[in-house]
Amino acid sequence: MKETPRSRFLRVKCMDCENEQVIFGCASTVVRCVVCGRVLAEPRGGKAEIKTPIIEVLE
Ligand SMILES: [Zn+2]
Repeated sequence: MKETPRSRFLRVKCMDCENEQVIFGCASTVVRCVVCGRVLAEPRGGKAEIKTPIIEVLE
């Protein structure tokens, strides 16, 4: 049985519009910036590949 990565929330910043947004670290769907629609994270093998700078990890 595959071990799931720890569930964490990440505060990230959009590189296009500088919007700060909290996203789930194990997102199973594509996460987009709520302001400009830029892709912030994509699901990749059970955890999210974060495509934008992470400002803070919230646990
Ligand atoms: Zn944005």
